[in-house]
Formats: sequence, C-alpha cells, structure tokens
Amino acid sequence: MQLYNTLSAKEREALIEEAGKERLTISFYKYAHIGNPHVLRNHLFLAWNDMDVLGRIYVAHEGINAQLSVPAENFNVFKEHLDTITFLENVRLNIAIEQDNKSFLKLKVKVRKKIVADGLNDATFDVTNKGIHVDAEKFNELIEDENTVLVDMRNHYESEIGHFKNAVTPDVDTFRDSLDIIEKDLAEHKDDKKLVMYCTGGIRCEKASAYYKHKGFKNVYQLEGGIIEYTRQVREKQLENKFLGKNFVFDHRRGERISDEVIAHCHQCGKPCDTHVNCANEACHLLFIQCEECADTMNNCCSVDCMEVHALPFEEQKRLRKGKGASNKIFKKGRSPVLKYKN
Ligand SMILES: [Zn+2]
Ligand SMILES: [Zn+2]
Repeated sequence: MQLYNTLSAKEREALIEEAGKERLTISFYKYAHIGNPHVLRNHLFLAWNDMDVLGRIYVAHEGINAQLSVPAENFNVFKEHLDTITFLENVRLNIAIEQDNKSFLKLKVKVRKKIVADGLNDATFDVTNKGIHVDAEKFNELIEDENTVLVDMRNHYESEIGHFKNAVTPDVDTFRDSLDIIEKDLAEHKDDKKLVMYCTGGIRCEKASAYYKHKGFKNVYQLEGGIIEYTRQVREKQLENKFLGKNFVFDHRRGERISDEVIAHCHQCGKPCDTHVNCANEACHLLFIQCEECADTMNNCCSVDCMEVHALPFEEQKRLRKGKGASNKIFKKGRSPVLKYKN
C-alpha cells in the first residue's frame, strides 16, 4: 500500500495544469476523542489519495485540522466519505473565498500531539466549556455594542494585512502570547465587558473561549467559522462587511482579499501594499510584505545579503545551507531588522 506522496511538487503542478480542472480549497476542523490517530491518518490518506485530494492535515488524539484542495468533480464523493466517519458527519466545511488550483501540491497527513500548536495545558481547564458561537449577522451587531471588546486571536503578520474594524490586534508571534496579553488588559472587565473573538477559520477560538471562561470571563463569544465563514455569509445574505483588507491563509495563496482597502505597507519602501512573499533566498525564506517595485529591485529578496546568496549558483547555495537546519518554514515570523518598514 502506498501511504505517502510519490510525486514532487513540480510534477504535481504539471499534472494539475495538464488536467485543467477546477479544484476547491477547503478547510475544516473538529475536536473529538480519537483513540488511534495513526489508524485514522492511514485511512484518510488512502481514501483522499484516491480522490486526488491534496493538502495539509493534522490528526491528534484531540481531533483533526485539515486544509485541502479537492477536485471540484470529486467534491460529492469526498463529502460522502467524510460523512461515513462518525465524528465528521456534517462537519462544517469552510470553502475559500478565492480559489487557486495550486493552493496545495502534496497530500500530507501528519500525526501530531495537538491539532493547533496552542501551548496550553488542556488538563487544567475544561476545553468543552466554550464561548457562545455567533454567525455573521449577530457578530456585526455585537461588535457595535459599546460594551464589547473585540479581539483578533491571530498573530501579527495575519492581522497586519486584514482585520475587523476596531479590533484589538495583539502584536504577538504565538497564540499563547496573545492569551496572556488579553487577559492582563481586560483583568478589570471580566464581568462587565463582552469578550468577542475571531480567527481565520474558528479553530483557535474554540480553545481560547474555553480558556477565558476558565479564567473568569463571564461573557465570551466567538465568530463561528472565523473570517472565512463570515465572508461567505456576508456575501450570501448581503450583510455589511466589517472586515478590512485581506484574510491571511496558510497555503500557496497566502491571503484572500475580503475588502478593497489595503491596510498594510511594503516592509522595504513603506508604500501601501499587502502582498506577502517569502524571501527568495532558500536559506532565509523570511515571510514579509513586498511591493512589485521592491521585488524587482531586490530580486525577490529581503536584504542585500540574501540577494548575494540568491545570485550564487544553486549548488553553491546548497553547500552554504548544509548543516544549518531547515529554515524554509513559512512560519519564520516576518520579523527582521532588515525590514525598515515593519513596525
Ligand atoms: Zn516596496
Ligand atoms: Zn532573506
């Protein structure tokens, strides 16, 4: 049985282009008690590989978190199969606003300790005692309430390119850090304020809302399905859109535009721009915001040093990287002293 990818990203890209068929970018998550994550992992890999599903999926004892690219013509088969897995029956699927056939180029199903690296010790609080889930309409109402504190539960590089009007956007690198900052800031208001939170697809708020209730907050709300589902509802029901800019996403697209406002700046020249890139020097791979002109001048790099490395022959670059460990992670945090306009 073949339980792992056999094609490289390049080969896959060529196949997708050749097929010329529409694919859907989908995400879903579910907290549940999974006895043997490895068995589920293999089951999903085999089924999804057959359906030509690609993506990044984490399976753990606590549940599943999946970001996928599914051929549109296989969507029904995919959905029917999900419904055969008891705890995933009728799970809410977040469908991306902007589609890209190449959002994922491999199928990676990984067994992890947790489905989100939240840094929390779950044994210390009841993770099922969650906040009140609200839909887009109720959310719009709530965030106009003067007793509401609206909090963005994402990291700095996500809220930088897009967030809700009047949201508190903690300048943090990790989810864990923002939990503490918010708790400290609102220590005096656990009873009288409504704590309303949101994230990309809802998963981070599932834990955060339970955590804040455990910490004594009386009125905790979370946006059901996050920004992705909010946008879908706003468009379907023609509600007022209160989200500014782009929604950062964790695939090849990096962001999807929700409103026309550009609220961020090129980290190299400071002009309005909200396009995230990774530094072209593979040994750096820094995630940052770069406008087209700067991409041109800097040869898609974050610094002059990286330009020099990037200009070397490929084999030479490889030799320099050797033994330095993998730095080519998109999560390299988008902070660097070389970025003049990163605040
Ligand atoms: Zn620029
Ligand atoms: Zn760089």
